[in-house]
Amino acid sequence: MSPTTLPLQRYLAALHEKYRTMDAGAVTTYIPELAKADPNWFGICVVTTDGYAYAVGDSEVPFTIQSVSKPAIYAAALADRGRGPVLRKVGVEPSGEAFNSISLDPQTGAPLNPMINAGAIATTGLVAGATAAQQWERIVEVMSNFCGRPVTVDEDVYRSESETGFRNRAIAWMLKNFDVIDGDPMPVLENYFRQCSIQVTCLDLAFMAATLANGGVHPRTGKRTVPADEVQSVLSIMATCGMYDYAGSWLYEVGLPAKSGVSGGVIAVMPGRFGLAIFSPRLDENGNSVRGIAVCQQMSREFGLHVFGVSVSPSLVLSRVFTALEVPSRRLRPPPVAARLRQVASRIKCYCLQGEVAFDGAEFVVRSLMQATPESDSFILDMHRVSYLADSAAWLLHDVRQLLVAQGKAVVFSRIRGRAVVEAALRRTLPEGDNGYLSFEDNDLALEWCEERLLSAEAETSPPEGTVAGFPLFSGMSERALTLLRERLRSMDYPAGAIIISSGEEEDDRVFFLREGEVSVVLSLADGSHQRLATLSAGMSFGEMVMLGSRARSASVHADTPVRSWTLSARALDELAVDHPEIKIAILKNLSLDLAHKLRQANQLIGVLAA
Ligand code: GLU
Repeated sequence: MSPTTLPLQRYLAALHEKYRTMDAGAVTTYIPELAKADPNWFGICVVTTDGYAYAVGDSEVPFTIQSVSKPAIYAAALADRGRGPVLRKVGVEPSGEAFNSISLDPQTGAPLNPMINAGAIATTGLVAGATAAQQWERIVEVMSNFCGRPVTVDEDVYRSESETGFRNRAIAWMLKNFDVIDGDPMPVLENYFRQCSIQVTCLDLAFMAATLANGGVHPRTGKRTVPADEVQSVLSIMATCGMYDYAGSWLYEVGLPAKSGVSGGVIAVMPGRFGLAIFSPRLDENGNSVRGIAVCQQMSREFGLHVFGVSVSPSLVLSRVFTALEVPSRRLRPPPVAARLRQVASRIKCYCLQGEVAFDGAEFVVRSLMQATPESDSFILDMHRVSYLADSAAWLLHDVRQLLVAQGKAVVFSRIRGRAVVEAALRRTLPEGDNGYLSFEDNDLALEWCEERLLSAEAETSPPEGTVAGFPLFSGMSERALTLLRERLRSMDYPAGAIIISSGEEEDDRVFFLREGEVSVVLSLADGSHQRLATLSAGMSFGEMVMLGSRARSASVHADTPVRSWTLSARALDELAVDHPEIKIAILKNLSLDLAHKLRQANQLIGVLAA
């Protein structure tokens, strides 16, 4: 697919076309070198958290980053010094004053937040490094990590700002006065001017926003740039202080953490989803890019991006619930046992969870389990489609498990394997003194375990030895017919682990009658894994399809325990049918009944899976 045909690319191109002619606002002039910008420059870029970049317009034109550097350097200060020391020097309150105001906390002298110049200059002084030169190296490293490429400084803009930045110079000395900056404030200020003069493109800024959206990891280079715990600190500051004096209206109307700069750059972050950047140097009276704001407003409105507008129902984490009556395990049981199990099978419930399971989703699941408790005995939590499990959610699941186990119920997990995030959260939050939880490879094994548990709670019935008359395939036969059949049966014994039937085998035409032991019918899947189709015990038969003329075996049969069986070859039955066609007719009738039963079960399973 060519990128120009992607819907979002076409959408962004249309936005660009719409606002290209919007000529309100003016290029800033207070830094003389910035006045040289072309007022018509206009780029829009979106980078997704999986690293796909959409770009329209002037996405590669270099310009100086200015205040859009502030959240990045704040992230670096948090990473280098820790939250406490940074908070002691720079606050987190919106100032309500202009970006270059000399607004310091009247009590402590600390700047109100890191997005106004006073706070940003203080923050620049907090990044790692014993000297200003070392701190500058760190700043370059951080900005390069955010952009995903080495960055350099526009020396003309730097000189221009340094020569005219009297107000910022005054701010730096104020910070010195209140001990917010230790040592000589001038080298710190020069680093700040340089940091603002780092050259970026609109695309770089979109990658920077996407890194913040992606939990602090650059979506292309994979490099961790912000500590995971501090991403939300940076985004909070951007949400409340990122858009100069327009921050309140911005949060109200657009509702995305953002930061703009006087050279015309704007970044906005949709956490977990994507980063957005716009570059257009025409600024409004607050110092924000006019087109930048227009684009963000329209996108937020049309795509419903406001972070407080997101309402995902916690019930979505539960994709479906089924009982062992609807989907029994693949263990086939002798008819009386199967009948007993059917009476109680709806007491086994499988809950299939999906997506990102956080506290609210787990709370919903826990409440569903509790509600179902009176008419349930066992719960299976299928984690196969869970992409993320919060520690708080894992803690809730353990808690309800302990609670229900204490009431004599079972709560087990299935399909955790390969879900490293889920496994880690469950292990991390295992309550002290807890013996751990049961976890099964697949739902089939979990269902079987729950069925056995239910059955063993009732009177034990030892499986009957298979007698010829007892096999359902021979049911309704006369004594005479049974004698004739018995003469044609051959005894076959197998040790545990033996392969009795191999899938694909064409020569073998025997039907097996299991007299003792257990076997499993197994399908080999294309990915090399195996799927159990059924487990059979004494009194059941297998391999009957040869009587219907199907030659190649469709699945393998393994002896799970030592096995004693009888076999009847289809050819021998055909020979017998020459004089006694009624025997073959009776067997085929019994087989049809059995197949009809299996088909009904399969249909029910399809119904549950498709629901
Ligand atoms: N270097 C500029 C200043 O301190 C940045 C201003 C901004 O982009 O808000 O004045």
